[in-house]
Amino acid sequence: MIEQPIHFMEKNGDIYEEMADWDVNAGGEKIVAKRMSGRFRNLKWFGMSVWLIYFLVPYIRWNGDQAVLLDIPNRQFHFFELTIFPQDIWMLSLTLLFFAILLAAVTSVAGRVFCGYFCFQTVWTDIYTWIETKFEGDTPQKQLRFKQAPWSIGKVLKKFTKHSLWMAIALLTGLTFSAWFTDAFELWGDVFTLQAHIAVWIAMAIFTTFTYVFAGFMREQVCFWLCPYARLQGVMYDQNTILPAYDAERGEPRGKLKKGQTDPSKGSCIDCKLCVNVCPTGIDIRKGQQEGCITCGLCIDACDSVMDKINEPRGLIRYASYAELQGHSKPQALYKRPRVIIYTLILLASLAGIVYGFLSLSATDFSVSPDRQPLFVRLSDGSIQNRYTLKLLNKENVPIEVQYRIEGLDGANLHGIHESYVIEPAKVLTITALVKVPEDKLQAGISPLIFNVDVIDGPESEITYQTIFIAPKK
Ligand code: SF4
Ligand code: SF4
Repeated sequence: MIEQPIHFMEKNGDIYEEMADWDVNAGGEKIVAKRMSGRFRNLKWFGMSVWLIYFLVPYIRWNGDQAVLLDIPNRQFHFFELTIFPQDIWMLSLTLLFFAILLAAVTSVAGRVFCGYFCFQTVWTDIYTWIETKFEGDTPQKQLRFKQAPWSIGKVLKKFTKHSLWMAIALLTGLTFSAWFTDAFELWGDVFTLQAHIAVWIAMAIFTTFTYVFAGFMREQVCFWLCPYARLQGVMYDQNTILPAYDAERGEPRGKLKKGQTDPSKGSCIDCKLCVNVCPTGIDIRKGQQEGCITCGLCIDACDSVMDKINEPRGLIRYASYAELQGHSKPQALYKRPRVIIYTLILLASLAGIVYGFLSLSATDFSVSPDRQPLFVRLSDGSIQNRYTLKLLNKENVPIEVQYRIEGLDGANLHGIHESYVIEPAKVLTITALVKVPEDKLQAGISPLIFNVDVIDGPESEITYQTIFIAPKK
């Protein structure tokens, strides 16, 4: 047998000791979290209420139309007065980049607060489990008793009502998703008369099924096994990231406390396990920071309530950084942390791009393409003619009337088009225009030419596009 060096064995011993304590709930154990009031519970309710935006916004009307409508068939996104066309989609990309970096920045400062307070999976799970506790009991013991009780009309009714409510929420979630893409009020009518588009039924089926299964049955297992963000969060933390943490130095050695007694040989933790009982992912935070922790802070509320009862200061479990718990009194200032600085710079750059995009949004989009086949035509009177394709998109919600003219090329005249055109909202007018330069005014080779669009009846008064006129080389 090969004898191992003592330090190796000690190290391995530590690892195996730690491994023996690893506890991964792979779905075999159903978590029934106790519900308690407190600061972080209130914060969670507030974060969850943000989702009302998802359910209510499709019903807001603006100038008689749906205020926010992602009109995929017509390739237009309406946000109140603003209409975004595919030409401006880069702004949407910047907006997505902004939120992705914001998520990373917030995670590096305060951990998975998005998961704990806003994420649809944890929010819907919280609502579903709340409904469940109302019918089947609010502790694991009560739910076990309910499960083991013989079937009766009361038990069937409770089960049926719970699943009906779960299904109603799932259906509403699915239908609301479609309401962002089509007229919300018409959608309800179409669904109830079974006249909705096939895409609506597919979206509803997918969202309803996933909501019901993920929030009702899989719960924290979705975060643990399926969510990519949960996997990435570790690389966004550093030792100054503040996370719900158990102050082991203050809490240990833990031990039960009898009523009216104090024990100076023990730490502040009375091993009541309330922090474990309230955890929606079933974690014992006293074992250290763990992958399944969604940083919801509910264990902090629980422990604070215990500390109040035993007249100890709050904060045995608190939001604290690793550095703080290691004895460095204060977390490093945000402006001294490289990753916060980098995230902030990217955030500012994308924000500047979004602001620039909004400020430079025009009411029209105009382009001119000179024909390449042929480059020019010599007419019988010796003049040279070029042909152009003009495309003008009306991004306004009202029709506009326009006239075309040219400038910048001596003697050139525009013909082959009408005096004016009316362009309907969100429509593109495509016309072919001819520009002719008489022989005596001709300049050999390529000359600059400017097309102007005068908006007679609309918000933008003049639109220009610089192009070229091609004549033969002498
Ligand atoms: S350990 Fe605490 S903060 Fe983490 S998920 Fe559980 S209750 Fe929330
Ligand atoms: S709630 Fe506080 S006192 Fe009770 S077991 Fe958890 S850490 Fe210890």
